[in-house]
Amino acid sequence: MISNNKYDYIICGGGASGLLLSNALISDSFFDNKKILIIEKEAKVDNDKSFSFWDNESNILDRIVFKSWEKAEFKDSEFSSSFNLSPYKYKMVRSDRFYSYMKKKIDKASNFNYLNATVKDIVRNSNQNYVKTDLGNFECSIVFSSIYEPKKYNFKKYPLLNQHFLGWTIETNNYTFDENKIRFMDFSIEQHEETRFMYVLPFSKNSALFEYTFFGGDVIKNSEYEKEIKKYLKNEGIKDYKIIEREKGVIPMTCYPFFNDNTDNFIKIGTSGGWTKPSTGYTIKNSIEKIDIIIKHLKQNKPLSKLKFKNRFWYYDILFLDVLVDSRGKGSRVFSDLFRNNDPLLLFKFLGEKTNIFEEIRIFISVNIMTFVRSLLKRISNFSV
Ligand SMILES: Cc1cc2nc3c(=O)[nH]c(=O)nc-3n(C[C@H](O)[C@H](O)[C@H](O)COP(=O)(O)OP(=O)(O)OC[C@H]3O[C@@H](n4cnc5c(N)ncnc54)[C@H](O)[C@@H]3O)c2cc1C
Repeated sequence: MISNNKYDYIICGGGASGLLLSNALISDSFFDNKKILIIEKEAKVDNDKSFSFWDNESNILDRIVFKSWEKAEFKDSEFSSSFNLSPYKYKMVRSDRFYSYMKKKIDKASNFNYLNATVKDIVRNSNQNYVKTDLGNFECSIVFSSIYEPKKYNFKKYPLLNQHFLGWTIETNNYTFDENKIRFMDFSIEQHEETRFMYVLPFSKNSALFEYTFFGGDVIKNSEYEKEIKKYLKNEGIKDYKIIEREKGVIPMTCYPFFNDNTDNFIKIGTSGGWTKPSTGYTIKNSIEKIDIIIKHLKQNKPLSKLKFKNRFWYYDILFLDVLVDSRGKGSRVFSDLFRNNDPLLLFKFLGEKTNIFEEIRIFISVNIMTFVRSLLKRISNFSV
C-alpha cells in the first residue's frame, strides 16, 4: 500500500499510452525530481493484444519488436498489389512483452509508484487535482488520463465507427507462408453491406495471424467472425492447422474532439485523448509522437490546455469517416481506388500524417472526388445545425 498521497503527476491507466508516457518521463532526467504515480486496475500480464505499426525510423518499441516485415500486399476481388515497404518497416509488438518491459522500468525508477487500483473519480481544480480510487485518494498537480469513457460523450456531430476484429494465430502442418510479406488489407471477402477485410501477419513459415475486421456499429457473434476466418483459410488452401492464440477487440474510430476536455493541468492521453487515427484505428505510433510533444510542453512549463492535436489530417479523417459511414458496403472501393491509383508508400506516408499538401492533392484526385464533395457538403450542414 502507498503511504504518501501527494504527487507531482498521476497517470490514470497503465495500458499502452500510460506506460509509454511513464517510459518517456523515466528516460528524461528533467523529470527525476518529480514524484509520479501510475494507477492501473488490471494485472497487465497477458498478451491481450498485439501492437502493429509502420515506421521508417527507430523508436522505443524497437527493443521489443516480435517481428518486422519489409513487404506488403493489398487485395480486393479484382485487383492485388504487392510492394516493398522500404524505407518503412511494418513492426509488431506483443502486449505481454510490452507490459513486462515497461513495468520493469517503472519498478526501477525511484521517483515512480505503481498502484493496482481502480480510479473512481478525478476531481479537477485549477491548482490541484484529486484522484479517488478504491484504495485511497491522491493529490497531484497534473493528471494524465487514458481512461476511455465513451458513454460520457455525444457522438452525434462526430460519427463513431467501431473497428471490430477477431483474429486467430494458427500453426499449419503442410502450408508455407511467405514470412516476409504481410497482407495489409484483403477486401476480396464478402462485404455484408459494411467495410470488411482480412488482415494477415505471417510470423514464420508455418504460423500466421488471420484477423477478420469490419468497420461497423454492433459487435457480431464470435461464431460469425470464426465462420469467415474458416472460409478464408479454406479458400487459401489451408486445411491442416491448429489455433494457438486468439485476439478480439474493438477500436473506436472518431474525430470527436476529446482534447476539448483538457485543462492546464489535466490531459487525456491514448484513445481517450483522440490519439487513435480515426480513419485507420492505428494508435501506438501516434501515441509515441504525441508523448514527445507533451514532454517538450512540460519542460517548457506550458499549460496543457494548449495541446489540441488538431491538424489538417483531422479534417481529412472526418470526411473519410463520413464517407465510410454512408458507404453501405462500398467503403472498400475507396481503399481500392487509393491503392490502385497511388504509390502505396505515399499512402503509408499519408496515413502516418507525413505528406505535404501537394502529395495530398495527388491522393485526393485519385479517388471518386464526388463522394467526398457530397460528404463535405453534408458535414458543413451538420456543423451549422
Ligand atoms: C485487441 C486490440 C488490438 C490493437 N492493435 C493495434 C495495433 O496493432 N496497432 C495500433 O496502433 N493500435 C492497436 N490497437 C489500438 C490501440 O493501440 C490500443 O487500444 C491501445 O491499447 C490504446 O492505448 P490506451 O492507453 O489508450 O488504452 P489502453 O491500452 O486500453 O489503456 C487504458 C488502461 O486504463 C485502464 N483503466 C480503465 N479504467 C480504469 C480505471 N477506472 N482505473 C484504473 N485503470 C483503468 C485499463 O485497464 C487499461 O489498461 C489495438 C486495440 C485492441 C483492443
